[in-house]
Amino acid sequence: MRVAVIGAGVGGLVATWLLSHNHEVVCFEGENCAGGNARPEVIRIGSSAVPFQLGPTYFLPKNYSTLFAIFRELDIATERTSMRLSVVTEDGQPSFISPGLHPLRVSPIMNRKGLENINELNTLLRRTAALLSVRDTATTWSSFIREQSVSEEFLRSVILPIGSAFFGVPYEKLGGISASSVLLYMALALPSLKNGFQIVRGVTGGTDAWIRKLCKFIPNETLRLGQIARGVNIASSSRVIVVHDEGEEAFDHVVVAAQPWSAAELISDKNLATILRGFPSFESEIAIHMGPLLELDPNVWSPSTVIAGEDIAQLTTLANNEFKDGIYRSWVTDGPIRPTNPLYKRTYRHLLQVPQVTIQQRKVREESRGGPVHFAGAWTRDVDSHEAAVRSGVEVARQLGSTHPFLSRTIKTPNPYNFGDPIEYGTKNIECHR
Ligand SMILES: Cc1cc2nc3c(=O)[nH]c(=O)nc-3n(C[C@H](O)[C@H](O)[C@H](O)COP(=O)(O)OP(=O)(O)OC[C@H]3O[C@@H](n4cnc5c(N)ncnc54)[C@H](O)[C@@H]3O)c2cc1C
Repeated sequence: MRVAVIGAGVGGLVATWLLSHNHEVVCFEGENCAGGNARPEVIRIGSSAVPFQLGPTYFLPKNYSTLFAIFRELDIATERTSMRLSVVTEDGQPSFISPGLHPLRVSPIMNRKGLENINELNTLLRRTAALLSVRDTATTWSSFIREQSVSEEFLRSVILPIGSAFFGVPYEKLGGISASSVLLYMALALPSLKNGFQIVRGVTGGTDAWIRKLCKFIPNETLRLGQIARGVNIASSSRVIVVHDEGEEAFDHVVVAAQPWSAAELISDKNLATILRGFPSFESEIAIHMGPLLELDPNVWSPSTVIAGEDIAQLTTLANNEFKDGIYRSWVTDGPIRPTNPLYKRTYRHLLQVPQVTIQQRKVREESRGGPVHFAGAWTRDVDSHEAAVRSGVEVARQLGSTHPFLSRTIKTPNPYNFGDPIEYGTKNIECHR
């Protein structure tokens, strides 16, 4: 079978890797390098050219069961990160720090107020397990939080800043986001109740290291970097034409693993294109700069800091160990605190995770069912994450009859904060996490 994959983000790459085992696959990627949101940028600092990871950097073994199963399959090394989430109010005062990401350093940073906040948060998360387990995506954050008896202080100093920082949106927009998405994000950064503290892991050598390794398992001629797909014309239920800069090619199936707004520009089917245009999005900016935005004591505060005020949300993380005293990554939205003279800036377009998204996802599935066009990428699933992206790639590969041995393993999804439904691939168990 001949299959086209459009987009070499992690979702498209995983689909390409698995499908190319027994199908003829062509993966079109408009950029000159694979990885999509996860691709690094090379930044010049003095005479050195340093690759920086601007996008995804932290992964939780317990929640990211598919990703860690792939890491095991491909022998990708991971290590603990010092990633920490802390929050300050708009006047620049630190008010909260998440201990879940690095339990060993909880005690020195924990003060009485922080402890009360953590207790309240734990109570809140415990109550929300029900919401997550029924996969309620229709309830918005503002209506959900109104029904919880959390204190004003906790709401103002913890919940709003963290949520708005994660989504890179002002407080008032956060209220419209689906409650289950907000809670899933919080479960990433904060202690996961059923499993105790989670140690966040990063890929040894940066996220890019695993993308590069994954590409080694994909036949050379399969990846067409720098080749933009311009159109996807459905000729029949088993024939689809991909138009690109050098002509057009026929395929039995096409997997569109580009973001919905890019996919909408490709698809000739008017109904599908209209649905894809209905996915709401927003933009945020990532900046690489010298020195932290806030002067924090490194013995107490980690280099990862979320700063949020009424309308700002910024995330700074240590970008590269080599420059640990001075290079930071900041997630910047509108607001007064911004890095001066950043070394580099890149704007990302994200899915705005409002309840409407679930309706759109269902429509895409219904409209494309039985046809030769399939969709993959984090946007097709719950929360925009690496796990959602790779999982979509695994699932589309299964649907299209990949016989890759990876698909005969079982991946366990043990806790309620998992993305998507539990998946069973086969009979042989693999332990995804220890
Ligand atoms: C700043 C940032 C930080 C993040 N941090 C984390 C984190 O710490 N942990 C985590 O789990 N997740 C994180 N995420 C989310 C995670 O990066 C994404 O969910 C995931 O990388 C998305 O992968 P994808 O395959 O769905 O799509 P994408 O990465 O969006 O890839 C789509 C690809 O399609 C290509 N494309 C589009 N149109 C065409 C066309 N017409 N022809 C050819 N190619 C095309 C694009 O160039 C792109 O390469 C972060 C995201 C961002 C932006």
